[in-house]
Amino acid sequence: MNLRGEILAKDPICDMTVDEKTAKFKSDYKGKTYYFCSSACKSTFDKNPGKYAK
Ligand SMILES: [Zn+2]
Repeated sequence: MNLRGEILAKDPICDMTVDEKTAKFKSDYKGKTYYFCSSACKSTFDKNPGKYAK
């Protein structure tokens, strides 16, 4: 959490920071939630999550 109370996650596709509280695009993979800046990043992840999940 940062000073403004945001919980920041990193979009694994484009490396952008995404606020978990306002993120519209997310996917669960192996018990972990991943957040995305756009539906395009989410669909890229969903096609091949094993490639991007760490
Ligand atoms: Zn993205």
